[in-house]
Amino acid sequence: MTTVYYSKSADYQDCRAAIEAVLLPQIEERGGVQGKSVMLKPNLLAWRRPDDIACVHPAVIVETAKIFKAAGASKVALLENPAVQTVPAILQAMGILDELKELGVYCETFKNYCRQETEEKVRFHDLEIAAEFKEYDFVCDICKVKTHAMMTLTLCVKNLFGLVNGSARLGWHLAVGRDFEQFADLLLDLYLRVKPDFNIADGVICMEGNGPGSGNPAERNFFAGSTDSLALDRSVAELLGVKDLLLIQNAGKRNLCTEYRNVGDIPEALPLVLPDPPGIMLSWGLTLPPGIREWMRKTMLSRPLLDPKKCIGCGMCERMCPPHSLKMKNGNPVFHLDTCIRCYCCQEHCPKGAIVSKKTFLMKSLEWIEKRLLRRHRD
Ligand code: SF4
Ligand code: SF4
Repeated sequence: MTTVYYSKSADYQDCRAAIEAVLLPQIEERGGVQGKSVMLKPNLLAWRRPDDIACVHPAVIVETAKIFKAAGASKVALLENPAVQTVPAILQAMGILDELKELGVYCETFKNYCRQETEEKVRFHDLEIAAEFKEYDFVCDICKVKTHAMMTLTLCVKNLFGLVNGSARLGWHLAVGRDFEQFADLLLDLYLRVKPDFNIADGVICMEGNGPGSGNPAERNFFAGSTDSLALDRSVAELLGVKDLLLIQNAGKRNLCTEYRNVGDIPEALPLVLPDPPGIMLSWGLTLPPGIREWMRKTMLSRPLLDPKKCIGCGMCERMCPPHSLKMKNGNPVFHLDTCIRCYCCQEHCPKGAIVSKKTFLMKSLEWIEKRLLRRHRD
C-alpha cells in the first residue's frame, strides 16, 4: 500500500514545516539520503511576472533543497528544460539563483539527451530523454498543481515531460497528433523509465481554468507527497474533483495503479475550475476506421481560440506550434484548424493568456445528449 502524505500551508511564507511533513517520511521510506546525490526536477514552465503560478513557487524549491541538505545529501542539483528560458535565467528572475548557489545546489538546463528503451513497449519502443537523471542516486519530482488544456491536470507524471528536449517535445506532439490516449501512454512510459524516488505537489496556490500557462490562482493550501508519482497524481486528482483523468484511466488499463492511502493533514476537497476537456466522446472513435476516427477528432476536439484584446502580437504561439498550423497575420495568429493537432502548445506558451481551448458546438451537443441519456438510465 502506497502512502500519500498531506500537509496544509496558508501561504509560502513559512512553508518549511509543511514541506517537511510530506518529504521527511518519503526520505525515511527510501532509507535516508545521507551521502547520496539528489536531482530536483521542479516544474518551471516560464517566469513571466512576479509570483507566476505557472511554476512551482520559489520558496518550495529553496526549502526542498535545504531539507535534502539537512538530511545529509552529498549533492543536490536542480535540472529542468523550460520551453523558452534557461534554468539559471528562470531562477534568477525568481530571485533564488544566488541562494541556491550559496547552498551548493547545481542549477542547469538538461543537456545530454539519449535514447532510452521503454519498459513495456506498449506503444513506443524508446524515448529520447535527458540522461542526467541517471547520474543521481535519487530524483525528486516537484510539480505545480495546474489545469492543462490537453490532459486536464498536470501533476507529477506530466511534469516528467520536461525531460524530453524542447524540439523533440514538439515532435512528440506531432507524432501523437490528436490521440491523447497515446500522449497519456507516452507520459506513463516516461514515468516508468524515470520512476522518481520522491514526489512533491505544490498545491498551496494551484492554477485553475486556462492552464497550464495562463489560468487563474486557486488557493487550496496544501502540499502532497509520495514515493510514487502515480499514486500522488491519483490522490490529488480525486481530492480536486477530477474524475476520469485520461492518464489514470490508461494507467489502470496497464495495471500500473497500486492501492494508496492518504495520511496527514488532508485538505478539504474543493474542485478546480477545469478547462474545456478535449472531449468525453474521444474514446468512442477508437474502434472506428481511422478515417472516421480522424474526422471525429477534427470535428469534436476543443479548438484553440484567440482573444484578440489580450494578444500583443509577440509571435510566441507561432514559434511553439509543432505542425505550423498557425501563422501571424497583421499582428495576430490565424489558426489553420485542418492541420491543427490540438496539442495546445500555443495556449500553454502564450504569455498573455490570449488563447483558450474552446469546446466545439458538436461536442457540446453530444455531451448534452449523453448526459441526458445517462440521467434517464440512472432514473
Ligand atoms: S503568444 Fe499570445 S500574445 Fe503572443 S502572438 Fe500568440 S496569442 Fe498573441
Ligand atoms: S494551433 Fe495550437 S493547438 Fe493547434 S497545433 Fe498549433 S500549437 Fe497545437
